[in-house]
Amino acid sequence: MTLDDLLDRNRQWADARRARDPEFFSRLARGQRPRLLWIGCSDSRVPAEEILGCGPGDLFVHRNVANIVAYNDINIASVVQYATVNLGIADIVVCGHYGCGGIRAACAETLPDGYLGDWLNIAGWAKRTVDQALAREGRSVAGEEYHQRVVEENVRLQIEHLSHLGLIRRQRAERPDSLRLHGWVYDISTGLVKIVAPGDT
Ligand SMILES: [Zn+2]
Repeated sequence: MTLDDLLDRNRQWADARRARDPEFFSRLARGQRPRLLWIGCSDSRVPAEEILGCGPGDLFVHRNVANIVAYNDINIASVVQYATVNLGIADIVVCGHYGCGGIRAACAETLPDGYLGDWLNIAGWAKRTVDQALAREGRSVAGEEYHQRVVEENVRLQIEHLSHLGLIRRQRAERPDSLRLHGWVYDISTGLVKIVAPGDT
């Protein structure tokens, strides 16, 4: 597929959208009121709008490798601020996914070189939490089951990071129950979302 093919598709998409709903683009041009903030993985197989049956204007989206919320990430902090303060969004979803290459790399003996290794080191805490839990349970889990446990734990860990951000703590102190943080995991092999942390976290 060439870039010209993609631009052709864009024109066809815009024409089809306008044919179905002549006011669609002029309505969106007036502003946005997205339903939730989506913090997901950059993986091409997890397109937030598509898997939730949404379209333009429905979701405010931030994606990075392995859906990580880092304390010192001014990028995600500004996204969270704009979503919650300016757009008044009350629901934030951190959505991981099974088969996540970032989580696999974070669990490997050696982290990748360069920025990727530095970044994925943050998700390494999820691996350590899983390892400690398995040691307590006296169990040994490997392969896909182990990977899935770390994916789920990483989502819980990033929700914890989110809840510790000064911006979130201040808003919750000023307006209790004003923000709900949800942990989801998307299964690429079924197309379905599983809840791993309910919205009252
Ligand atoms: Zn991923």
